[in-house]
Amino acid sequence: MSHDPHCIFCKIVAGQIPSRKVFEDEELLVFHDIHPWAPVHLLIIPKRHIATLYDTSPEQHQALLGRMLALAPQLALEQGVTNGFRTLINTGADGMQEVQHLHMHVFGGPRPWARG
Ligand code: AMP
Ligand code: ZN
Repeated sequence: MSHDPHCIFCKIVAGQIPSRKVFEDEELLVFHDIHPWAPVHLLIIPKRHIATLYDTSPEQHQALLGRMLALAPQLALEQGVTNGFRTLINTGADGMQEVQHLHMHVFGGPRPWARG
């Protein structure tokens, strides 16, 4: 399934829920987290519905996952994050994943941060 009608991030991709977008191309979307842990808190997501990192494989998703990671420094710098940042992908129950659509967090900006 490339679009899950019950998935909140699929609804953001479809424009059914608003978001503060910072980047978009044919396969990725990046927007600000609604409850930021840091002065800059971005979410990098694939546009097609992939529930978790468990649902990826080296054979099928190497390029997509590489692009998600490779975008992080570029977007951090564009947001004024020049002193370092954190990246995080939560996976599954023990990984504390709340939204079941693959996403990579990018946290940055001057400390102290609310979390992280
Ligand atoms: P995780 O715990 O890794 O699944 O993180 C999910 C993240 O999605 C949390 O940091 C939420 O604040 C964020 N989030 C949930 N709903 C929205 C939304 N409508 N727009 C932006 N971020 C959201
Ligand atoms: Zn989805």
